[in-house]
Amino acid sequence: MAAGERSPGGIALIGPASGAPSCPHGPALLFVKTSQGKEEGRRFYACSACRDRKDCNFFQWEDEKVSEARLAAREEYNRNHQPTFTHRQNVERYKNFVLLPLSKRRFCQDCQQLLLPAEWEKHSNHRLLCDISTAQLKSPSQFLYPLENKKTNAQYLFADRSCQFLLNLLIDLGFRRVLSVGTPRLHEMIQSKASQEEDFRVRSLLLDIDFRYSQFYTEDEFCHYNMFNHYFFGGEAARETCRKFLYEDNGERVIMVADPPFGGLVEALASSFKKLMAMWKETGKEGQDNKEMPMFWIFPYFFESRILDFFPSFSMMDYQVDYDNHALYKHGKTGRRQSPVRIFTNLTPSIIVLPVEEGYRFCTLCQRYVSSGNQHCEMCNSCTSKDGRRWKHCVLCKKCVKPSWFHCNNCNCCALPNHSCEKTDSGCFVCGKAGHKRSACPSLSRTRTAFQDDKKKGQKTSKKVKMGICKRSAMKRTIFSGKKMKNKKKKT
Ligand code: SAH
Ligand code: ZN
Ligand code: ZN
Ligand code: ZN
Ligand code: ZN
Repeated sequence: MAAGERSPGGIALIGPASGAPSCPHGPALLFVKTSQGKEEGRRFYACSACRDRKDCNFFQWEDEKVSEARLAAREEYNRNHQPTFTHRQNVERYKNFVLLPLSKRRFCQDCQQLLLPAEWEKHSNHRLLCDISTAQLKSPSQFLYPLENKKTNAQYLFADRSCQFLLNLLIDLGFRRVLSVGTPRLHEMIQSKASQEEDFRVRSLLLDIDFRYSQFYTEDEFCHYNMFNHYFFGGEAARETCRKFLYEDNGERVIMVADPPFGGLVEALASSFKKLMAMWKETGKEGQDNKEMPMFWIFPYFFESRILDFFPSFSMMDYQVDYDNHALYKHGKTGRRQSPVRIFTNLTPSIIVLPVEEGYRFCTLCQRYVSSGNQHCEMCNSCTSKDGRRWKHCVLCKKCVKPSWFHCNNCNCCALPNHSCEKTDSGCFVCGKAGHKRSACPSLSRTRTAFQDDKKKGQKTSKKVKMGICKRSAMKRTIFSGKKMKNKKKKT
């Protein structure tokens, strides 16, 4: 389902659809395949979670007739593709595991599983981690293999500094409960502090598709969840756990923090987050009526307008979220990689205090903290930089643009000096007609052009990042290495 960058047309997400067939990852999502010259594309269902066919090859045309036999086979397949142990069983196993002396605590790296002595033999040819300490058990993200992209070992886990910053920020803002959606490391930091510091009051519930975490957390601490289709693998019981967690007992305020894969499925994510927010609202008392559940959505800055499309109340913070693998992507002379990842939030920007020691300062005009390089533009009446560098104002475009851009009279907008002008006479990328570009193609509705829009905004990364097919890891790798390339070769 490659939304081929160079092929005409492409694949776009329509979204979750009622009555959608299921794969082992819950209800599939509805996509549309558009082809050049065609107004209506053919619709199909594909796996919501795995954008690599190798991981889940579920595919069905929307108008396809599926035989009873095939339906039965599919159900059987879905059942067989559930994890070996249930969450409940894993919790029991853990209880037994911690009773073992250190010398008998083994973790199989090949099976990604804690082993009980009776199972050692079966794993005798596997790579094992021995003497698993209690401290290690409290930091599973430190020794679990990165789920995707095993080859390069690139985990997209928060750097300690960023994780600490996020947690302190949440605490300073007065939150006592964190719904951690795809943020195992934040969850882990909260859990381990809660078990070590007596007066630490914050609690966290982890929602993640990585079922390995069920070996380390109880059913009240972790739900196996798919954030692309709002699917609780644990059914109604898990959903109820989440609902209960969102209920604000004795004024304990709750916030959702999500760090999703950077694929092109912004609307699928937004739809799930809205459902989680609705859950929060339902559990609430009267006063919550016109309030939105507080949220941090951690995502690259070039998705800003996409996120704002779905959440107009959100704003983007300048804080650069760093990941653990930063050593690979050192930023030129300063030795610090410039991360493109930001925090989007519906909280008032002025209360999000960014660390002054890292160069952030408060802009009194914008009423928010900004990067040191982000200059307030009088014309735009805002601090306009998105990437942390100082941007410049173009009077013709009537907006600020990247420092490396120049106004092109041909294109009637600012672009890199060596860009190739987009000629309108070559026709629209989608429908082939002359007179407009694909972004303005009348044959496609907004949602259908979603991927194309994302690509446009993705700018540099768009060439390599094929929306909808990259795995999270590949995606982040591309984004960061794109950054690296940019620093080395082309200055943007
Ligand atoms: N920076 C975060 C980790 C982000 S990596 C931290 O350090 O805590 C992205 C996370 O999203 C991973 O934990 C991954 O397992 C999870 N994830 C990926 N696809 C998902 C899906 N479809 N539903 C739920 N979680 C998913
Ligand atoms: Zn699937
Ligand atoms: Zn400006
Ligand atoms: Zn311009
Ligand atoms: Zn041009």
